[in-house]
Amino acid sequence: MKIVIIGGVAAGTKAAAKIKREDRSAQVEVYTKSRDISYAGCGLPYYVGGSIESREELIVNTPAKFSALTGVTVFNGQEAVSVDPSAKTVRFRSVDSGSLSDVSYDKLIIATGASPLIPRIDGTGLSGVFTVRTPEDAVAVRDYIEKNDCRKAVVAGAGFIGLEMAENLMTRGLSVTVIDMTSQILPNVLDPEMAGFAAKRLRKKGMKIMTGTSLLSIKGDEKAEAAVTDSGELSAEVVILSIGIRPSTSFLDGSGIELLNGAVVVDEYQRTNLEDIYAAGDCAVVKNLITGQRQWSAMGSTANITGRCLAKILTGTRKPYAGCLGTGVVKLTDDLNAGRTGLSEEQAKAAGFDPISVVCVTDDKAHYYPDSDTFTIKLIADKATEKLLGMQVLGAGAVDKMTDIAAVGISAGLTLSDFDTMDLAYAPPFSTAIHPFVQACYILENKIGGAFETFTPVEYASGAAKGYRVLDVQPEPKIFGAEWIDLGKVTGELEGISKDEKLLLVCAKGKRGYFLLNRLRYFGYPQTCVLEGGLFFNSVKIENAGGKLSAAEIKRVKALGCLQDKRYPDVFNVRVITKNGKITAEEQRVIAEAADRFGSGEVTFTTRLTLEIQGVKYENIEAVIDFLGEHDLLTGGTGSLVRPVVSCKGTTCQYGLIDTFGLSEKIHERFYLGYHDITLPHKFKIAVGGCPNNCVKPNLNDLGIIGQRVPVIQLDKCRGCGKCQVSESCPIKAAKVENGKIVMTEDCNNCGRCREKCPFGAVPEYTDGYKIYIGGRWGKKIANGRPLAKLFTSEEEVMETVERAILFFRDEGQSGERFADTIERLGFDYVQDKLLNDKIDKNAVLKKTVKGGATC
Ligand SMILES: Cc1cc2nc3c(=O)[nH]c(=O)nc-3n(C[C@H](O)[C@H](O)[C@H](O)COP(=O)(O)OP(=O)(O)OC[C@H]3O[C@@H](n4cnc5c(N)ncnc54)[C@H](O)[C@@H]3O)c2cc1C
Ligand code: SF4
Ligand code: SF4
Ligand code: SF4
Repeated sequence: MKIVIIGGVAAGTKAAAKIKREDRSAQVEVYTKSRDISYAGCGLPYYVGGSIESREELIVNTPAKFSALTGVTVFNGQEAVSVDPSAKTVRFRSVDSGSLSDVSYDKLIIATGASPLIPRIDGTGLSGVFTVRTPEDAVAVRDYIEKNDCRKAVVAGAGFIGLEMAENLMTRGLSVTVIDMTSQILPNVLDPEMAGFAAKRLRKKGMKIMTGTSLLSIKGDEKAEAAVTDSGELSAEVVILSIGIRPSTSFLDGSGIELLNGAVVVDEYQRTNLEDIYAAGDCAVVKNLITGQRQWSAMGSTANITGRCLAKILTGTRKPYAGCLGTGVVKLTDDLNAGRTGLSEEQAKAAGFDPISVVCVTDDKAHYYPDSDTFTIKLIADKATEKLLGMQVLGAGAVDKMTDIAAVGISAGLTLSDFDTMDLAYAPPFSTAIHPFVQACYILENKIGGAFETFTPVEYASGAAKGYRVLDVQPEPKIFGAEWIDLGKVTGELEGISKDEKLLLVCAKGKRGYFLLNRLRYFGYPQTCVLEGGLFFNSVKIENAGGKLSAAEIKRVKALGCLQDKRYPDVFNVRVITKNGKITAEEQRVIAEAADRFGSGEVTFTTRLTLEIQGVKYENIEAVIDFLGEHDLLTGGTGSLVRPVVSCKGTTCQYGLIDTFGLSEKIHERFYLGYHDITLPHKFKIAVGGCPNNCVKPNLNDLGIIGQRVPVIQLDKCRGCGKCQVSESCPIKAAKVENGKIVMTEDCNNCGRCREKCPFGAVPEYTDGYKIYIGGRWGKKIANGRPLAKLFTSEEEVMETVERAILFFRDEGQSGERFADTIERLGFDYVQDKLLNDKIDKNAVLKKTVKGGATC
């Protein structure tokens, strides 16, 4: 039997190898148009990010190795152009020579996968615009970024691939904006509220996300320079198009093979409508295991499984492909993964179920174990039968395990209570004594049984809890305007709260709310509900709230860049970060709109060149931050962290000696955003000045960078003129003629203003560079920074020294002391030697636990 397989990556090679293992006598030929077969498509983003170092690591098998290993004959560089089912032949065109050949088959497997959608807009052909599907694509992206030292990227499409690419581009130090035309990230993967929660976490990590935003064109002259969207123009040297894929099946036109939206229609035995023609992988439809409906599941897992399944079918084991659940996991950042399986709530409704869901937050492992984190779980079940229908999970840990447990449960048709006593593994480094998945089942069972009456985050956000009085059940009061209930002291009726009142119990994650609900039920409060996911998942605001915010809450919002207006208990000034003291006209419009919509309409400028929206009511804080975030603007700039960099306009100023905008933007990306989660002993302020005029006072910062132009004197050319032109031109008279020769006094600050002033060439050249000052501070205890002895002559050296200074401060600074204090304690020479000469073990320093001492 001769089996011809078109396509040689996941489904094609899996089917080919398995057929040969099952039936050694079969003649199996794989034809593929690409050079490579069997490559790790799923690994491409990680090659771009650098965690997979070489292209070779992406290639699972070369054609020769694969043939030797399996006995399959591989023809690469052969593109199928048509299929003639009556003659049982496929026509191939050689990619190199263009020559055509007809190949006959007894059985034909179509495994041609899918290819990226390229939108019909201007600019997709510019350099710097990429799709990501093959190793060549990934190699091209990485090479381009490295060769062009790219700093900014726009990723169009916030699906799995787009977000994986975004994360990996950020790992490379690029500033990344992800846009998606739908109203959420991971559309069709996560339900909107779960996606909204994930987006918030990604924004905190510095990823800019703009949903509801369409790509209109890509601008540039040969190279991409900006992505033009319906929400404005985003500068970008790299644009990744990840807006979707479509089945690679156009060569089947006219063959009579049935397609559905371009995907080959197959039955559970992977058979097409035509005899002896089969399909598997991304090019074909599959059946949904729960609904039995046809769907497209363009996943490597499905491609491999259907490929293997088909091989078994063709070699005599007639076991049908059971169906898919849309299972998927994705790493979103180094501390956030997402997983999902089964039906979403909407899909469940559309399939005729009466779904019920719960959002809950559990520990992912024993809470005392290092690295423990949370799982934020949405569990969906059929209300009537309590059968598990779907699960979505977000967390830093093993979301794949959660997802797989759910996938097994759904596949086996289990109900929630089937998990109640399931013997799942536990030890502190891995899980909790009652598995987090089982805890989620308990919670949903309690909800279905009526013991856990709740508002879901979606219900709460849509105003369903209007008219409910909020009770704050956290260990200490944190919700402005809410009555705080000390859970441990609730031993009877609540003082001052009538039993007829509708009560909404809000705690950190939902658990204390449930405990209080349980007691209040007993004490006779029937209209009481808990907010699912608590404040961890929801933002709770109380309209017309009176009362006082707790110190902890004021501190929390301060960390978000919201500083309390001392005149009012519930009014804040929200600080908007600028990357280098510069904002675009569009950003100004957005800030003005935010001030109008959420604040008093006023915007103030801080001395550190950030903007503060004045008069934002506490209840609007979340909304204003979200609104600014949607427009790529960040709030923040407080805490024991690297603070937003301050820059003078040296790039455009007549005296500027360095590109201050460019340098401070790089510092912003690498150290403000990149070190956003790295606590230091105190705040760390950086300023960049274009020349020694010091308009932004770099020397009064923890670290200041000042542009320099150092005169180089050739004394033999100096004629000791009566009126020295160099001296005349020096604004501070730092150059003098003594004993018939020019002398630069110690006052010379390397401003370079005397350049080209000597008519006799006694000052023929100047060395351009940067001076770095360390240990300056302004405020209560003013200190002048001292310059490091070295003149830095490249931006790279400056960036490296800035990083060394931050790491040194983290390593040797003591909690509560500014860098100036550390230098005073340890001695300038010691610190200078460390910064200029010593090795600093970045990984070890970052692993340390440091307590920050900044109070603002
Ligand atoms: C960046 C990225 C990350 C991914 N991450 C994951 C992940 O984490 N998990 C997951 O499950 N899935 C992931 N996927 C999806 C997964 O890679 C695909 O689902 C899988 O590769 C599909 O396998 P396939 O064999 O059906 O098709 P493909 O891998 O597309 O292979 C089809 C082959 O057929 C060839 N071909 C096409 N047309 C013709 C023709 N006319 N003639 C001859 N040859 C042809 C193509 O050149 C290609 O080599 C990812 C995909 C990408 C691009
Ligand atoms: S420090 Fe120099 S470059 Fe910067 S604004 Fe002042 S004069 Fe211009
Ligand atoms: S530096 Fe030039 S202008 Fe000044 S004294 Fe020497 S030769 Fe004359
Ligand atoms: S570099 Fe500036 S300070 Fe120094 S001598 Fe020239 S003009 Fe004067």
